[in-house]
Amino acid sequence: MPMTKSLQRVRGTQDILPELEIKFHWIREQARSLGNKYGFSAIETPIFEMSEVFHRTLGETSDMVHKETYTFLDRGGDSVTLRPEGTAGIARAFVSEGLAQKLPLKFFYSGPMFRYERPQKGRYRQFHQIGIENLGYDHPFSDVETIHYAFQLLKILGLQSSCKLHINTLGDAESRAQYRESLVQYFSKFKSELSSDSQLRLEKNPLRILDSKDAADRKLIEGCPKMQASMNDHSKKFFEQIQLGLTQLEIPFTVDEKLVRGIDYYTHTVFEFITDQLGAQGTVLAGGRYDGLIQMMGGPATPGVGWAAGLERLAELVSQDLIPKTILDVAIIPADEAGEAWALTVASELRKQNKNCEILWNGQVGKKMKKAAGMNARFAFILGSSEASQKMVAVKNMGTGQQSTEALDAALRMI
Ligand code: ATP
Ligand code: MG
Repeated sequence: MPMTKSLQRVRGTQDILPELEIKFHWIREQARSLGNKYGFSAIETPIFEMSEVFHRTLGETSDMVHKETYTFLDRGGDSVTLRPEGTAGIARAFVSEGLAQKLPLKFFYSGPMFRYERPQKGRYRQFHQIGIENLGYDHPFSDVETIHYAFQLLKILGLQSSCKLHINTLGDAESRAQYRESLVQYFSKFKSELSSDSQLRLEKNPLRILDSKDAADRKLIEGCPKMQASMNDHSKKFFEQIQLGLTQLEIPFTVDEKLVRGIDYYTHTVFEFITDQLGAQGTVLAGGRYDGLIQMMGGPATPGVGWAAGLERLAELVSQDLIPKTILDVAIIPADEAGEAWALTVASELRKQNKNCEILWNGQVGKKMKKAAGMNARFAFILGSSEASQKMVAVKNMGTGQQSTEALDAALRMI
């Protein structure tokens, strides 16, 4: 029967089959265990929140809120949104769980995110992120440590040379306001040439224009005033410290004055690790400082810095050679009914010894032997009624072809 559209995957979603899931899991675990060394602990927040949580923090004019959210009324009439990113929910949790007394706090998270985007390679409507939030420190070297964590992770993943660090600063609130002024002055002169999105941004959040992907906008952006010119001394010093720390830890970076990031809550440091190996979807890991975020959420002024990385994009880059292979220790081959019952016990004993095994229930013995070879089993245990009655196992080493009949204990020791 042909599959009707209503029974197919929703556009932009994916079925993550075991082979890819093993890779995802491996990457996640590298990130999580490296995070322990930096003092990060895992947190899980809901995958949906009241819509206001995202509207307030990400900014009404951000593409994410404006065009990409999955927002709907639930049966009680509340507007809820599937999370497009992880930081807003964690900021919400920080406030609603009253965690301010426990600062500093360092969270690691991973899970699905949802954005209504045009699906293409490396860009999905349900995708997965790993990320961290480092709350409570306003020291620039705290940003450096956070970037160091990302850098070390990419090194473990074998991506050190393919992912390059770009950094920029948005300055503190005062510098941002100053910069906003000069951008308004500049872009107002070209208002009619701007894309309609950017005309709106000009009124609501001119900084956002710098993040535009529109070709005509990009031309105008080339000539726009530089952030550096609007920075006060504190912001300049902060950014100098970032560069000093990165240099001291031998993390190569490029300063990219056009880097603004697509979200409203960033202050001071913003950064991205970018690769040229994924076409247009080149940003692999991105983050920044968000000193105003917790306050936007109604909590006490709390500094913070964090990053997130897309698992799909990381997995695309990570070599399969790094992923530990799962090896089948034993294929258990019952030869008759008595052997089938004995197989249950033998398999249970193997698993107690931390060995993995598969009982091949289907087909004749010859077919099962072929299957065992196809599964790359290290050993086959062949169990018939005579083995069952004596609590013995016919052990075949699949590598050498050697075969012998052993007591169960002896057989277990051979694996
Ligand atoms: P882009 O410029 O590619 O749209 P972004 O600035 O929207 O990225 P962030 O919001 O910073 O991305 O998310 C952090 C990371 O999450 C990205 O660097 C990317 O690896 C991943 N990511 C973002 N959106 C998607 C998506 N739709 N599908 C897959 N991965 C994504
Ligand atoms: Mg995006």
